[in-house]
Amino acid sequence: MDLLDVSFDVGNRKIMALLVQKYGGTSVGTAERIEAVADRVYKHKQQGDDIVVVVSAMSGETNRLIELAKSINASPSAREMDVLLSTGEQVTIALLSMALMKRGLDARSYTGSQIRITTDNAHGKARIQKIDTEAMQADLDAGRVVVAAGFQGADEFGNITTLGRGGSDTTGVALAAALKADECQIYTDVDGVYTTDPRVVDSARRLDKITFEEMLEMASLGSKVLQIRAVEFAGKYQVPLRVLSSFVEGEGTLITTEGSKGMEQPAVSGIAFNRDEAKLTLKGVPDIPGIASRILGPISDANIEVDMIVQNVSVDGTTDFTFTVHRNEYDQALATLNSIAKELGAVAVLSDAKIAKVSIVGVGMRSHAGVASSMFRALAAESINIQLISTSEIKVSVIIDEKYMELAVRALHSAFKLSDTAPGVREA
Ligand code: ASP
Ligand code: MG
Repeated sequence: MDLLDVSFDVGNRKIMALLVQKYGGTSVGTAERIEAVADRVYKHKQQGDDIVVVVSAMSGETNRLIELAKSINASPSAREMDVLLSTGEQVTIALLSMALMKRGLDARSYTGSQIRITTDNAHGKARIQKIDTEAMQADLDAGRVVVAAGFQGADEFGNITTLGRGGSDTTGVALAAALKADECQIYTDVDGVYTTDPRVVDSARRLDKITFEEMLEMASLGSKVLQIRAVEFAGKYQVPLRVLSSFVEGEGTLITTEGSKGMEQPAVSGIAFNRDEAKLTLKGVPDIPGIASRILGPISDANIEVDMIVQNVSVDGTTDFTFTVHRNEYDQALATLNSIAKELGAVAVLSDAKIAKVSIVGVGMRSHAGVASSMFRALAAESINIQLISTSEIKVSVIIDEKYMELAVRALHSAFKLSDTAPGVREA
């Protein structure tokens, strides 16, 4: 009986897991912070977990390298940029491994090409094609901590590639998928995913759980906690993803599949917003087959991505055609429209860059009717005019005047009761 109790005690410990922990630039921004990461890894290792660490470059380093390159050549070759930028992560894997060894842990660093993360050859935005897990697995089996450089790989010829800005998140998820890890933990400077940006709504609440789909909508709508590709990847390979702070203890936010939720889903999980778009309208174009493609064809030929598209009902054989683009591409989109307006027979080109997009997001919308009308009511109560609307299964977005953006976010956050109202948690 005694023996059993003892073994039960031991068995009562946290169950061993294989964790991929990714630490972003601010988490490894100084030598002290690298030491703090090593302490955290050490703690998990003591608990019996197997750990693969993925690190970013020290904060600011990637930008510094980009500036350095530009000071030498205004349009540097993409291949050489990748050789340059990949060095940022090579610094942090070595330093972190040294810090781990100082703590008596066996650790080994790997660049992307050393792991053999094979990518295509699209320098600067490469996609991962294959990951060799053999060496990493052997290290883990031998009790070592694997320290992998984020954001990089190599093409089939060994040319160094990078995965695009923020790409270390994708490395983390990809390694977790390849190693069949129990969880991919993204340590960052926020302690989770919030119902909306706490800088806009101070009662915004950290979500314990959110689905991949919801996270994708939140991320693509401007809640820049995670690289979008990393979330897509995690959803595709069903890698449980957790966002947590590397500075304060906490459970963070678990991003997972829909079915794993126990409770009934609220209609709306969060409010996303951004000011990154601009609106363009071609007024009074003939309402004939092919007109949409004749407008958007030249836009896409110019490599401009279109977000929302709205075409009015025509009354007199003409229609107004409106769409939104990223604000960075506004000037180019406007120039393109001006150049085709005449031949399309348009009456005018109208445009507005002072707009904002505000969206409600939630998988619970699927089973709750009337969510959109509640949204419109809340905006109307604040006299906010809606310029465009678009919907998907789990999202309703509106375009409004930029100057009402924060008001709209606050109104919606309260209309959908997203603030923390749990007794004892609410602040006076
Ligand atoms: N260091 C790269 C960047 O700043 C990759 C990353 O941090 O995820 O974009
Ligand atoms: Mg990052």
